[in-house]
Amino acid sequence: MEPKINIQPLTEWGLGLESPLLIAGPCSAESEQQVLETAKALAIAGQVKVFRAGIWKPRTRPGGFEGAGEKGLKWFKRVKDETGLLVATEVAMPKHVELALEHDVDMVWVGARTSANPFLVDQLASALAGAHIPVLVKNPVTPDLELWIGAIERFWRSGINRLAAIHRGFYPYERSRLRNIPKWEIAIDLKSRIPSLPVICDPSHIAGTASLVPEIAQRSLDLSMDGLMVEVHPNPSAALSDARQQLTPAAFNSMISGLTFHSVTSTSYEFTDFLEQIRNKIDSIDQQIIELLANRMRLVEQIGEYKRTNNVTIFQLRRWEKILESRIECGKKLGLDEEYIKSLLHLVHKESIKKQAEILRGNRQTNGE
Ligand code: PEP
Ligand code: MN
Repeated sequence: MEPKINIQPLTEWGLGLESPLLIAGPCSAESEQQVLETAKALAIAGQVKVFRAGIWKPRTRPGGFEGAGEKGLKWFKRVKDETGLLVATEVAMPKHVELALEHDVDMVWVGARTSANPFLVDQLASALAGAHIPVLVKNPVTPDLELWIGAIERFWRSGINRLAAIHRGFYPYERSRLRNIPKWEIAIDLKSRIPSLPVICDPSHIAGTASLVPEIAQRSLDLSMDGLMVEVHPNPSAALSDARQQLTPAAFNSMISGLTFHSVTSTSYEFTDFLEQIRNKIDSIDQQIIELLANRMRLVEQIGEYKRTNNVTIFQLRRWEKILESRIECGKKLGLDEEYIKSLLHLVHKESIKKQAEILRGNRQTNGE
């Protein structure tokens, strides 16, 4: 059954927040100097309300920088005193919550590797119950809306009603232009399932590359998201984590002044109208179809190279028959017309043959791939 979740609007969190909410700061708190330098630069521009920095870093592989730990929380105190910004960090276990609360952290977020684990989420929800600080829940690494809603529900059930979701994209196994695949349709669905829930976009982890951050940020604002969480570092190339995706404070400020913020009022929680929502989902799915076609073509090229080296003919009838048969069968199970799948496959196949023929002729076009 759908949970009845009624989140308090951002503007009523009692923290002087505005919508859209801007959160910015380095991926990791690395030193007192780096933390203060970033916070001061962000505070001067005036739009950022919350300073973010990871104190404990969940690294995919062991051996990397795992965060400054408790001493970093002391640097936060200076940020609060000297800039007036609120401070936020990631918590992944009850001990982190305890230390964050002891050091007056204003809000916490749950990372993508933690929100996927209901046991940990339950432990965090109990540790945060009664703490009266807002909790931001990042989407799990996998594109599983139920798991994301489940995590939000667990916090809600422990009495936390200042909650927001952070959309940071999903891990793509296939190579893609972005670090994480946005799958905007999932964020849109989340918003329609829990209309009162503020959804903030983290364009840094979606983009993975600093130059792509503004484009993702704009897209999220166009989808009426309620704010941004952006990674900003005074010297990105020297950052101890996520070096490629962090913006300098100057680049961040110029991005913010170039973005079009649509008027999302604190009282109107309509994401977009129905037709618009569906169109946004279609746009996102089309983008994924095109990326998959490109990935398919790269594999076709590998086969082409192999065939060239081993003198194998391009067209192999048995393989083509099997492709047709299995794809039509799959399409039928999903309610798609046989002729539709057939013509689509013919088109895809024709292009593959063309590409392999080019490779065989040895005059592969260099069109940027
Ligand atoms: C982060 O915000 O630096 C972070 C680790 O994010 P995520 O959990 O989205 O990977
Ligand atoms: Mn990061």
